[in-house]
Amino acid sequence: MYNPKSLKAEEFISHEEVLDTLEYAEKNKNNAELINKIIEKAKQRKGLSHREASVLLVCELEDKNKEILQLAEQIKKDFYGNRIVMFAPLYLSNYCVNGCVYCPYHLKNKHITRKKLSQEEIKREVIALQDMGHKRLAIEAGEDPVMNPIEYILESIETIYSIKHKNGAIRRVNVNIAATTVENYRKLRDAGIGTYILFQETYHKESYEQLHPTGPKHDYAYHTEAMDRAMEGGIDDVGLGVLFGLELYKYEFAALLMHAEHLEAVHGVGPHTISVPRIKKADDIDPDLFDNGINDDIFEKIVACIRISVPYTGMIISTRETASCRERILRVGISQISGGSRTSVGGYCEPEPEDENSTQFDVSDKRTLDEVVNWLMKLGYIPSFCTACYREGRTGDRFMALCKNMQIQNCCHPNALMTLNEYLEDYAAAETKEIGKKLIMSEVPNIPNEKVRGIALDYLKNIENGKRDFRF
Ligand code: SAM
Repeated sequence: MYNPKSLKAEEFISHEEVLDTLEYAEKNKNNAELINKIIEKAKQRKGLSHREASVLLVCELEDKNKEILQLAEQIKKDFYGNRIVMFAPLYLSNYCVNGCVYCPYHLKNKHITRKKLSQEEIKREVIALQDMGHKRLAIEAGEDPVMNPIEYILESIETIYSIKHKNGAIRRVNVNIAATTVENYRKLRDAGIGTYILFQETYHKESYEQLHPTGPKHDYAYHTEAMDRAMEGGIDDVGLGVLFGLELYKYEFAALLMHAEHLEAVHGVGPHTISVPRIKKADDIDPDLFDNGINDDIFEKIVACIRISVPYTGMIISTRETASCRERILRVGISQISGGSRTSVGGYCEPEPEDENSTQFDVSDKRTLDEVVNWLMKLGYIPSFCTACYREGRTGDRFMALCKNMQIQNCCHPNALMTLNEYLEDYAAAETKEIGKKLIMSEVPNIPNEKVRGIALDYLKNIENGKRDFRF
């Protein structure tokens, strides 16, 4: 029944295979010999299968667990250096016809304030985001074929890309909207989106159907097979994720990796990113009512095990998590974070009045983008506003080729420094600017290729002289 090459959800995420995997992992959680073998394989940096990774996830040997975290940290450094890509979500509309029991946008919620941004309002939001320094957005919307049809999403993307305010520009729009048709994915591709992101929420079919009792999202197969349709529609970069807390984390972990293996087997390229959201308090949602919540230790282990299992896949953490939790998991695997986020519709322009609430979940990290940038640099990271790959057509397997040829340090590294320099020149507070300038100068020598280093120095100077948008 289990077949990673099948296009049927229940065959590439076979329930029996997940259960067998969990049993195998449980049986071997103290099997030092096997665990050593798997860690040795992971050290080759070619990834692990869902079975191997599941053993590491439940491993109970303390010294081995330490080794796993250290290896994740090392693999992260080798593949992503100390760069962290920055983005912000932009909520377009919270009208939704689904019944997702964990989400306050569900249809039956009558007291949440329903809002949908007009193109004029989107313009204002985008200007506010540009004035913060953002270059990369993830647009978010509820599923409502009447209020938020694909035409509305496409028009919004066009509006976002068209706005050039001062030195600002949104250079990459990622899209997180409900599962749709191949035809609509093709339209999104033609609109120039970056990654298409869709969280599976849970891979457990029975739970999925209970958690999505009504609306089009109830259809497990349609939702689970969405990434195949997106790829058929020409979208190269897709982003997976599960909402941790809904189901047993071991189940989700194995199935998530099976999904990645499926994409690789069928389309020749795995997911571009994996997100790891956890359920948070929201309008009429109490996360304590869900029994499968995970603590920070398990969360860190999940991130580390994903990191070593799919080294080429970026990992995203949002402001659902606190600064201290984000700091912890950045180290073992995260490569992209949001900053200064608002999860309300229209929240960047002005805060919502007391008597209105359109937010999707409560934000835990409430710092401004500049505070997050400053904090990252103090931790030794380079905040990157880079969008070059997508704009140079390095998507899907072409991006993977860049990683596999180890050219990241000659490409992503200078791009990160240049986009950080733009941020420092245009938006940073005085202290952030001072830290950042020093950081850039200390990081330039880490560009291995001499010629690239010279050009990068030249571009960095040009940015100080007012020029923008250089990239390798
Ligand atoms: N409506 C689209 C869909 O169905 O995929 C867009 C997704 S929604 C705007 C973004 C994500 O937020 C959801 O996929 C879900 O995983 C997450 N989410 C919903 N309720 C949440 C909550 N209470 N806490 C944390 N994340 C939540």
